[in-house]
Amino acid sequence: MADLGVVKKRLEDRLRQLAPRLARIEGHLRTPGDRDWPEQASEAQNDEVLERLSETERSEVEEIQGALGRIASGRYGHCIGCAEPIAEGRLEALPYATHCIDCAD
Ligand SMILES: [Zn+2]
Repeated sequence: MADLGVVKKRLEDRLRQLAPRLARIEGHLRTPGDRDWPEQASEAQNDEVLERLSETERSEVEEIQGALGRIASGRYGHCIGCAEPIAEGRLEALPYATHCIDCAD
């Protein structure tokens, strides 16, 4: 089993990276015609792309928060499908995985 303190820190770091970005994207979506938005031209040519990005990042934030919750409650690293431990390599690649490789589909 991986060191939970390390995993927790990785997740929290990622959350800190994502949260301001998400807030910025959502701020942009709320004010699509705002010409004062400094990064508008380079960052957002296409609202559809922007919305999809926002959705992806939002779901990542939710998955990270879920993983942090499972760490706090001692259930982290176990498949929510079959309750078997999730392989360490899988958690390494996907720290907020909720299912083992067998239950992933
Ligand atoms: Zn499983």
